[in-house]
Amino acid sequence: MRQRNKPWADDFLQENTDLVIPNPTEYKNKWHELFGNDNPIHVEIGTGKGQFIAGMAKQFPEVNFIGIELAKSVIVSAAQKVQESEQENIRLINENAENLIELFTPDEISTIYLNFSDPWPKNRHEKRRLTFHTFLSRYENVLKSDGELIFKTDNRGLFEYSLTSFSHYGMLLNEVSLDLHASNDPENIMTEYEEKFSAKGQPIYRCKAIFPN
Ligand code: SAM
Repeated sequence: MRQRNKPWADDFLQENTDLVIPNPTEYKNKWHELFGNDNPIHVEIGTGKGQFIAGMAKQFPEVNFIGIELAKSVIVSAAQKVQESEQENIRLINENAENLIELFTPDEISTIYLNFSDPWPKNRHEKRRLTFHTFLSRYENVLKSDGELIFKTDNRGLFEYSLTSFSHYGMLLNEVSLDLHASNDPENIMTEYEEKFSAKGQPIYRCKAIFPN
């Protein structure tokens, strides 16, 4: 995701603490209180500019969505997109997904989405991939026992790597699509990257996986 320096980002975040939660570890095991209901919680990791989470929140108003995005200059764009959407069922966290276990208790989350995660193609950067086994163990910790990990990408190398990583971890695959758009899933909400890469004719890959019980 291209990051532009945004000198106004700090001020924006300070003015919008109801949406971009400044001290998210305080809500561990209390996210339901923040949303004011007991609806299931879905988390998107690497939210980017927010098109997916805003679209999903509109499509599924009975679900609470939390977007985690590392880059401050990017999360402010997501926050603006969420504000435009006027959806009440979204909160954002400016954090590294490495800290997931600090943010949520076991079983607090029903679904995790990874959308067009950075591929980190060099072998020496394998640990940074969001489907590396250390990340899978964090997802397993916070997901409910039947909770799903849903992963979309245009990057064939990352997709193949991730399927192997899921398999080595003992995960079960509920769906593997090598051309998501050909299947015309009416519930699919496109991300910014998905729009960009599919416009160039690249197939979009999607996998839905669960952890072993
Ligand atoms: N999901 C968006 C999309 O599909 O349009 C953005 C994709 S972009 C390639 C990846 C995003 O993930 C970037 O905005 C990056 O800052 C974020 N990201 C990468 N590693 C992360 C991490 N460990 N924790 C949280 N966000 C991360």
